[in-house]
Amino acid sequence: MKKQFAVIGLGRFGTSVCKELYKLGHEVLAIDHQEEKVNDITPYSTHSVIANGTDEKALQSLGIRNFDYVIVAIGDDIQSSILTTLLLKELGVKKVWVKAQNYYHQRVLEKIGADRIVHPEQDMGIRLAQHITSEKIIDYIELSADYSIVELLATEKVAGKSLVELNVRALYGCTILGIKRGEEINIAPVPTDQVEKDDVLIVIGHKNDLKRFEDEGL
Ligand code: ADP
Repeated sequence: MKKQFAVIGLGRFGTSVCKELYKLGHEVLAIDHQEEKVNDITPYSTHSVIANGTDEKALQSLGIRNFDYVIVAIGDDIQSSILTTLLLKELGVKKVWVKAQNYYHQRVLEKIGADRIVHPEQDMGIRLAQHITSEKIIDYIELSADYSIVELLATEKVAGKSLVELNVRALYGCTILGIKRGEEINIAPVPTDQVEKDDVLIVIGHKNDLKRFEDEGL
């Protein structure tokens, strides 16, 4: 089902969120208080509006409470980011996701009820470090402080082995969710499915177990 999103603040981060949501076929309302930013996003959004996120009346008249998600991507102006988030929660928006600039900003956002707080620079930094230090890690999604999903490159060591032979769950406590081979992806692998060299294994587990599998199993 199509979801309705609004993005407030069209800097680099807000613009990429907006364009990607629109590309994925969702309805996206793009909001910024600078006319130029709004003009630039027009071809990549369902609607684009010049408005200030801290203007309660403007938010109300846009019917903001009817959106499934509102993403607050106001960058350096922390005060505006906080006030916008506060207004959105007071107006009854169910899911408000906010980009935080630093730890103090995050703590205030938590207090006023932001549903999800993201740190794109830090997250990207962690991802890059994970990627750069391991030739086997293709991608990485952090689910919590302890659990992740990683995409690992299958090496010669596991080539030609079936999932039953690999026995990853018993030996390492992690689960192979899918196997990518070129453009194809097997999202429901069965125990007899074989792994080939250069397949990408999508694996979920505790970080320590994933690390063990990466170091010893592959
Ligand atoms: P990034 O690091 O993602 O590029 P920026 O700080 O450069 O972030 O961009 C933030 C955007 O948010 C800018 O386009 C700015 O005009 C917009 N913005 C800042 N304050 C408000 C506000 N109160 N209402 C709407 N948009 C705002």
